[in-house]
Amino acid sequence: MDMLGAFYWRGAAEEKLLLQRCGSCGFIRFPPTILCPRCFSPEIDLIESEGRGTLWSYAVPHKPRWDWLDPGAMLAVVELDEGVRVASNLTGASLDDVFIGMGVEVWFKQVRDGIALPMFRPATVARD
Ligand SMILES: [Zn+2]
Repeated sequence: MDMLGAFYWRGAAEEKLLLQRCGSCGFIRFPPTILCPRCFSPEIDLIESEGRGTLWSYAVPHKPRWDWLDPGAMLAVVELDEGVRVASNLTGASLDDVFIGMGVEVWFKQVRDGIALPMFRPATVARD
């Protein structure tokens, strides 16, 4: 775990999806960076994402090489409502029902003590 992203994993362990927001211009970014890519400020505020977004892209690997990746798992890139994209997994949906732009929400898969992975599933609350 690199220090730059440590806050993200500490937040995940507490079932919070944390993002960096520039303390100078307010730009929200992901993945974590030392300086704001917009104004180069080192000032950082951490904010908790609402955990909702839309499916931006997805893929189904047919030969998972990792034992932590369930067969049939969908890899997903989600565009959060805060405007950033995160790579994760999509669960709880069949391939027939998945489409780009569908509403999704975060949940946290507890892997072991102190380690949780942010995952996404179809949104349970209707989107605006
Ligand atoms: Zn900035």
